[in-house]
Amino acid sequence: RGDAGRGEAPRGEARRVAVVGAGLAGALLATLLARRGVAVTVYERRPDPRVAGAERGRSINLAISARGLAALEQVGLRELALSRALPMHGRMVHPSGAATNFQSYSADGTRAINSISRAELNAALLDTAEATPGVTLRFEHRVTAVDTASGKLTLDGPDGTVTEPADVVLAGDGAYSAVRRGTGPGGAFDADTDFLEHGYKELTIPPRGGDFALDPDALHIWPRGTSMMIALPNLDRSFTCTLFWPKDDFAALDTPEAVTAHFRRHYPDAAELMPDLADDFAQNPVGSLVTVRAWPWVRIGEGASVALLGDAAHAIVPFFGQGANCAFEDCLEIDRCLDETGGDWTAALPLYQERRKANTDAIAEMALDNFVEMRDRVASPVFRAKQAAVHA
Ligand code: FAD
Repeated sequence: RGDAGRGEAPRGEARRVAVVGAGLAGALLATLLARRGVAVTVYERRPDPRVAGAERGRSINLAISARGLAALEQVGLRELALSRALPMHGRMVHPSGAATNFQSYSADGTRAINSISRAELNAALLDTAEATPGVTLRFEHRVTAVDTASGKLTLDGPDGTVTEPADVVLAGDGAYSAVRRGTGPGGAFDADTDFLEHGYKELTIPPRGGDFALDPDALHIWPRGTSMMIALPNLDRSFTCTLFWPKDDFAALDTPEAVTAHFRRHYPDAAELMPDLADDFAQNPVGSLVTVRAWPWVRIGEGASVALLGDAAHAIVPFFGQGANCAFEDCLEIDRCLDETGGDWTAALPLYQERRKANTDAIAEMALDNFVEMRDRVASPVFRAKQAAVHA
């Protein structure tokens, strides 16, 4: 909305609003709310990532699309994000034993998704939140319980366990959300949690001779039937590769020689660009891939109202590159619902969940389908012919 300083106060007495998690969604939402005149305290279990550095094992870069950019525009970060991003105008497919082929994301070749560092994006969102009057950031505070009857949060922090009052709790605490898993009156939110048998591991293709070792204008895919590798470019001219393999396949490569031999056989063009392959493979963790379908997302208690957002409500697998984009859209929708209800949280939050649920269910299914497309169908000549026809 770009209406900083409008100073609109919520209906009724000033609310104590807590945002749980200073990740991508939490940081954006805190800014949007403070711009409405709502005082927000953000509780984050980790130390400040701008000081402590990024956690190993979380995805290093993200593809941000038009949806995410539209949300960033609301807090004045669209141009900064674009200036720090690398556009990818299509996929570069690296089939097994055949030449690479480029598949444009749009008929006229102009549309792109943007590869951006997760750490930088989170830092920019935190800087913006911190600079917005009304936002208080409290790092190293892990929320362990929400009591909707008495309106209290329980937190583990540097001074031990403390409780804090909160009338509204907005849970952006990620796929394994403590608020969703719930303790205290009311218990857990209902949620289905589906893990893929595949996990992910990140590797690096460093710059070669000071330049990108692969075309930086593409999202690279090595489809290998039941598994795949992808690579996204970084500003430092490296690529972050992500392996999506059945978890047992990671465990089977248990010596440096086995790793090197496997990559030379299945990913030969990439293997020669990865001087630290065996070390990276041994040191980098295997992450899980989960779909979370929670419902309802909102609980209106006597003491506090609670809403889930972002991955806490609807974690999706990353094959459509839409998890963060969707989390940002949740924040915009909460803001919009507050507008439409005159700042009445008990009306705005149910409206938010009604509007978002069908969209996030749909994107979760599309993300699962796109795994099959990326790891298998993009390599088929029939698929390529169809793509060419669509773009003709
Ligand atoms: P998170 O970013 O997970 O943030 C949650 C925050 O809450 C964290 O800071 C955490 O420390 C904090 N927290 C957790 N528990 C507590 C607690 N109890 N108390 C206080 N704080 C707590 N999305 C895209 O749009 N594009 C992509 O290209 C893309 N690629 C991905 C690649 C991979 C391998 C993976 C795994 C995901 C990818 N995603 C992508 C999805 C994206 O990362 C998530 O959808 C996004 O991070 C969700 O944001 P969030 O703020 O809801 O949760």
